[in-house]
Amino acid sequence: MDKKTFQIAIDGPVAAGKGTTAKLVAQRLGFLYVDTGAMYRALTLYTQRVGIYLDDEKKVIELLSRDKPKVELRVPEGEEKDGRLCTVLLNGEDVSWKIRTEEVSKGVSVITQYGGVRDMITPIARSIAESQSVVMEGRDITSVVLPEADLKIYMEADAMERARRRHRELLMRGEDISLETVYTDLVERDERDSNREIAPLKKVSDAWILDTTGLTIDGVAELIVARVNKITKNG
Ligand code: C5P
Repeated sequence: MDKKTFQIAIDGPVAAGKGTTAKLVAQRLGFLYVDTGAMYRALTLYTQRVGIYLDDEKKVIELLSRDKPKVELRVPEGEEKDGRLCTVLLNGEDVSWKIRTEEVSKGVSVITQYGGVRDMITPIARSIAESQSVVMEGRDITSVVLPEADLKIYMEADAMERARRRHRELLMRGEDISLETVYTDLVERDERDSNREIAPLKKVSDAWILDTTGLTIDGVAELIVARVNKITKNG
């Protein structure tokens, strides 16, 4: 294999453990962690701030095509190391936490149904993975963004466990919301992500299905690192 970079592509439903695991694996292997959901979240926040009705596809695309908000990801530096997995900049503003609210979470799966929105993010994500080894996670990484990735993973977990994890995260950040609401929102978002026409969340045939129910983040990261080491040794 005459290839200098290695691509790990991870897809899966809400709160399956993709982010924390991907970040840990990236740290251990010295790869870059790329959170594509964060990029879509930043575009959602931009649209919500302008006050455009997210269900209005034409208006959303018009706005984003006209304003071309700049979305950047970087490894947290200095004071940014406050528990976030990556730093997200929207037109230079640090929105790393502002994109994690339940309001943005609900909005993001609406605008990611639009082909015009996906076309803004997919090329950026692909180009990041061209020049360096990455652990990239999202919903269409194994199927659309990096279908030729060296390792493709579909990460899943029991829906109630995922809702509990997300609920805990939101409470810790001071968002007062019931577990029932988190569960309902999560199921709704998964359904929308899996049933949309363009780039739906799905298990590609050669993906490694990794169920993280009852496993620790560290344990899952170990499994992935071991698999990568095996591939690179045999490659
Ligand atoms: O991973 P996260 O929950 O932050 O993703 C937010 C939303 O962004 C998902 O619910 C999904 O609608 C969308 N998304 C996507 N394609 C990706 C990554 C995220 O459609 N590659």
